[in-house]
Amino acid sequence: MEIPKLNFDVIIVGAGTSGTIAARFAAQQGLKVCLIDNNTKSDIGTKVCGDGVLATIFNFLHINPPKGNELLSLKRGFRIYSPDQKSWLTIKIPLYFVDRLRFGQRLLNEAIDSGIDQFLDKTRAINLTYNKEGVDGIKVRLKSGSKVDLKSKIVIDASGCYSTLRRTIKSTLIINEIPKRDLVLCFRDIVKLPSESKLTHDLDYCTLIIDPDKRSPGGFIWYFPKSETIINIGLGTFIQYNGSIKEYFQKYVFDYFITQPNFNIISSAGGVVPLRRPLPSCADNGIMFVGDAACHVDPANGGGIDVGMRAGYHAAQVAKKALVANDYSLKTLWEYNSIIMSDFGLKHAASDIIRLFFQYKPSKDLNFIIKKNILTDIDISKLWFHGELDLNFKATIKKIIKGITRPRLLLELKSLMKYMNNVIDLYKHYPNSVDSFKDWREKETSLFEEIYSKFIRTNLS
Ligand SMILES: Cc1cc2nc3c(=O)[nH]c(=O)nc-3n(C[C@H](O)[C@H](O)[C@H](O)COP(=O)(O)OP(=O)(O)OC[C@H]3O[C@@H](n4cnc5c(N)ncnc54)[C@H](O)[C@@H]3O)c2cc1C
Repeated sequence: MEIPKLNFDVIIVGAGTSGTIAARFAAQQGLKVCLIDNNTKSDIGTKVCGDGVLATIFNFLHINPPKGNELLSLKRGFRIYSPDQKSWLTIKIPLYFVDRLRFGQRLLNEAIDSGIDQFLDKTRAINLTYNKEGVDGIKVRLKSGSKVDLKSKIVIDASGCYSTLRRTIKSTLIINEIPKRDLVLCFRDIVKLPSESKLTHDLDYCTLIIDPDKRSPGGFIWYFPKSETIINIGLGTFIQYNGSIKEYFQKYVFDYFITQPNFNIISSAGGVVPLRRPLPSCADNGIMFVGDAACHVDPANGGGIDVGMRAGYHAAQVAKKALVANDYSLKTLWEYNSIIMSDFGLKHAASDIIRLFFQYKPSKDLNFIIKKNILTDIDISKLWFHGELDLNFKATIKKIIKGITRPRLLLELKSLMKYMNNVIDLYKHYPNSVDSFKDWREKETSLFEEIYSKFIRTNLS
């Protein structure tokens, strides 16, 4: 039996898209890196996903975009349809559709080639180990079944939404359990049609349909044409639809989109995605959380690959700084929180309000809002790209008066704007150090509790 090396600068748990990027950039800066994953090496990348990756991430990281048999197509952006599908919003943002396994394998191999010290597959992180300063490593169960302690100056947890380490960490700063109201349950099929019956519907764009009252309670339906004959279709919904999601998916997604005979289902599976603003603190002494483990998915659209890769890159940079300063405490690692909040945390917090608004609004209101241009392509694009929402209320009031009179909706839109401004203001003042975090956290909690109580129509907690 091969005995693993036991001491590192950084241990990265999880070799998904976030963890492989953290490993690669940490190793490139000369850090001694150990990357582990509980999956078999050849299966890494087999994530249940929509398989779309925003193109901008490859320029940001200066790494090769998908190509060859890893790349299936390049789309222009998203079309978000109203529940009645009579109107839609178009968001122009290029994204690649990938063969998820090949993409994941490429990122893993590039991380290994960048000079990481050790990669262990079929190795599960069981819990964290601590010294008097904080986290100093992890206990793992190796491929062989034996348990060992791996030690490091910093642990980067990239082990996904249900991270064992986040759930069990002894910390007053880290949220252990993600509330159910912030989790979306998904089911998706990848379907291949015979070559003679090519896809025709909106080949250039990814389709999202929102229909909270009927077809996609608390989420959306997606139709992503990966190539002319391969389509990724799925449904995201409230987590408590666990028992009935397949039935919903079959009726409102599969039977609706797949009308041709002789299709072949390449893959059929479910998953969970955290849809909310990032954890208020994504770090503590000796540890940083990245990707789904830290709720880095964009709550407006469920995209988490590019953001997790960004977070992995940032974590690697801060780890290097900590090593140079020879200080692995939160004092140094706090910079990671500041970068996350200014890079995308503020945007995601603003989008989180729109997520809640859309999740719980009656379908007839959403039909009205989209049809009457109360929310436009430009508004949503500004929100996605810059975290800004600036509804022109004079114009909105005129539109509402011109159309059907809906004073209740007008009031709700006004309170949406008020909360949006409050949240943006709060996140602009994210603390520069842990010293003022307690106050900020209390404000964040009370503001979002008010928002949840305002928008949520069910009793999920
Ligand atoms: C149905 C669905 C559709 C989606 N569609 C899209 C999309 O089209 N585009 C997009 O950008 N995002 C999409 N997302 C979100 C996206 O898939 C995630 O945000 C992204 O994959 C997160 O990457 P990650 O590396 O943080 O975590 P993960 O991909 O979950 O990787 C975690 C890794 O950690 C390993 N691991 C877990 N626990 C342990 C442990 N204890 N010890 C060791 N290893 C461990 C796992 O084996 C895994 O390899 C979708 C999500 C879902 C569920």
